[in-house]
Amino acid sequence: MRGRFQKQAALVGVGMDLRSFHTPLEAPEHFRHLATAIAEAGLAPVFGQARQSVTEKLRMVGLTAPAAFAGSGEVEVLAQAEGDGAVMLRLVPNAQSDSDGSAFVADIRVLSTTAAAQLEDLVRQKVLTLSAHSWSEARLIDRMRVNLNEDGADASLLNDPERRQRIRELYDDRLRSALARLLGAARGERAREPMEWLRPFADDAETRQALFGNPAIFAQRYAIACRSCETQPHLAFPDRGRAESIVDEVGRTCVNCGENALEIAELYRVSDEYVKAIQQGTWLRSLVADAVAGRTDATWTSRKLGRSELDVVAIYADEVFFFACKDGSIGPADVYAAVRAAEQLDVDEAILVTTTDVPRRTQEILASLGAGPRIYRIISEQSSQAIRDAVQRVLDESAWKYLDRSLADEGTIVTTTTRGGAAHRLARLNV
Ligand SMILES: [Zn+2]
Repeated sequence: MRGRFQKQAALVGVGMDLRSFHTPLEAPEHFRHLATAIAEAGLAPVFGQARQSVTEKLRMVGLTAPAAFAGSGEVEVLAQAEGDGAVMLRLVPNAQSDSDGSAFVADIRVLSTTAAAQLEDLVRQKVLTLSAHSWSEARLIDRMRVNLNEDGADASLLNDPERRQRIRELYDDRLRSALARLLGAARGERAREPMEWLRPFADDAETRQALFGNPAIFAQRYAIACRSCETQPHLAFPDRGRAESIVDEVGRTCVNCGENALEIAELYRVSDEYVKAIQQGTWLRSLVADAVAGRTDATWTSRKLGRSELDVVAIYADEVFFFACKDGSIGPADVYAAVRAAEQLDVDEAILVTTTDVPRRTQEILASLGAGPRIYRIISEQSSQAIRDAVQRVLDESAWKYLDRSLADEGTIVTTTTRGGAAHRLARLNV
């Protein structure tokens, strides 16, 4: 069994699939029954085995284990014999038992990089009343629902499935940077040809066709232009037929130079939706929200709390996370706004996400926040994949921290097993 724990240790830093649930328990004894029921499906109760092993060793030298030590315990880890998965159970007193009925709750965590879905099915078969999220997460979610009931600036846009899907096209780094360059160089309409020379258009005909043929990204119009005097096209129409009929009416003659040289020019402009999504950084907020949604369904995007705009809020591994996104340089004002929002919402971790390097002054301010009650971090990445990975890494680190804390938390284990902390350490030694 030593191998299993080495394997679990190796999971640190790898994307972990952690799924949390809770179920009501009428009495603490039922916790042991719950653990036994799940173990029957072929999982090894790590703590149970450790207790048994210690009891047997003591018996061999003529001693009896203290009653409390052999008791039910408040934590159990059920590990897969083959594979990297485990089910972690924890008994929690229900402080709100008046309203909820049962006096105790069991938190059930399923974790694995490869087999979480399979373990979840197993738990669902064994536990009748299974509610989503740990007990404390469920209560945090209730609190957030009350606090985060006001829409932020991007809420209607990001909550519209079709528009959101279009924003996701901007996760393509090459497309996004090409469009940003177009917008940076000049606004408004342009002939297609000069745009085609921009990366990523120049080196990829297929992408070129897909992009310019996509009316959501490029709004297209047909203008009347003169091949001879090269006057800027000033009349443009959404349909080609209208432009052609006007050219025909004047017999292709240019009013400026008199030459018989009028033609139809195709003009393209980045549609307003994409201009906004790029210039206001909506794509980044959408990306961070999607990355977070890969770990938890308890998330809120574009909410408002007092004067604070909250880009992305999430609850995961019993903690509240707040992501403040900026597609550009983060200055002191951005940091202070994030600090104010983080304090208002009383989050555990506030993460600033930026697509540029972090100015020295901003780094200094962030460093000075280190001693406070919450963790401040900064993610500075340019590519969508790197941003997504960094966001999920923050959440994964917290999941591991949570698991360590849950297993090592003397305070909770000691209440039923007087040597619970030692039992935990013995469990580690024995497997
Ligand atoms: Zn002309």
